[in-house]
Amino acid sequence: MIIIGNKTKMSNKKIIYLDNAASTRIDDSVAKAMHDFSTYYYGNPSSNHYFGKKSKEAMESARFNIAKSLNCLPEEIIFTSGGTESNNLALFGIAESLKHKGNHIITSQIEHSSILEACKALEKKGYEITYIPVDKYGLISLESIKNSIKSKTIIISIMHANNEIGTIQPIEEIILLANKHNILFHTDAVQSYKKIDINLNKFKIDSLTISSHKIHGPKGVGALFLRKGLQITPLIYGGGQENNHRSGTENISAIVGFGEAVKTNQKTKQMIVRRDLLIKSLLNIKGTKLNGHPEKRLCNNVNISFEGIEAETLLDHLNNSSIMASIGSACHSHKLEPSYVLNAIGLSEELSLGTIRLTLSKYTTDSEINNTIKKITKIINSLRKLVD
Ligand code: PLP
Repeated sequence: MIIIGNKTKMSNKKIIYLDNAASTRIDDSVAKAMHDFSTYYYGNPSSNHYFGKKSKEAMESARFNIAKSLNCLPEEIIFTSGGTESNNLALFGIAESLKHKGNHIITSQIEHSSILEACKALEKKGYEITYIPVDKYGLISLESIKNSIKSKTIIISIMHANNEIGTIQPIEEIILLANKHNILFHTDAVQSYKKIDINLNKFKIDSLTISSHKIHGPKGVGALFLRKGLQITPLIYGGGQENNHRSGTENISAIVGFGEAVKTNQKTKQMIVRRDLLIKSLLNIKGTKLNGHPEKRLCNNVNISFEGIEAETLLDHLNNSSIMASIGSACHSHKLEPSYVLNAIGLSEELSLGTIRLTLSKYTTDSEINNTIKKITKIINSLRKLVD
């Protein structure tokens, strides 16, 4: 692979990158800000000298940008190593600090593994977890959450939008329900952040997870919004950074990059037009099915199943044509079993194993979409001819 200016090329062919739900290309302005910062100001933000103060200033400016994007207070933003840590910090931190009140947590069957695995670990510690099922579109019903609430329920944790099928949950209604019952509400907004407006001043969300590398920032940095006044037990102990919520010297250059990425426009309207063209054209191929909700879906998500096709073979062919996509969710792509999200929406095993996810970004162009449509149509036709 060679890097030429802004363009990444593989075997001299231009890459079409359609795996933006897994990770995104770093913006040029982000890379520059990170480089400039770490080259010139390498001080520890806890140090009292000039370089330390410069680092602290840069960190607070990033915190301010992120808080502004969510309409919350800067002191409500805790920097972490990413979405996984933020979700773990929220669940373990709240569960531990509220154990005197109860031990019951409500979540859904289609959360990201950083919620589901944390819940499994909490079950081993004596917490009781209710995993709410979803309908054929991946939507959670308010009624099923209502029916699961118990006097000892302490957290409702429902993701804002799903990473595999892109379904957007009715979190406004769930928040009102949680508020009414005095139960804390956490949401994993890793996939929706900067794609759907989130106004924390309008809705009483208690904690919310975001991650930098899904919005053209660097990997290994994220944040947890924690509503002012809420006490949580930390996961990491040490020097008391991040208001005692997360000890350890902050990853300043990554935080600076995150703060820069937040300022850029994700061009969601443009993505919707391209997403819809991709969906419409792929559905023209015989034996295809769109997974997720037709309207309540992320602006960049296309999750589609092809009858009689092995997704792995299709992806290999696409990869050979320098088109990068994924099977279901990237985090599970090394496993050959059907994705638990596709299982939860009732997709057959055969269709599940013939499912790919194509996710766009603001950098995706019309010609990339047209080339992808042509390529997929051609590959599917030739793979089907082989078995006829
Ligand atoms: N939550 C969701 C919905 C995700 O899609 C991901 C990553 O794919 C995460 C959490 C984990 O975020 P990170 O990669 O920053 O740990």
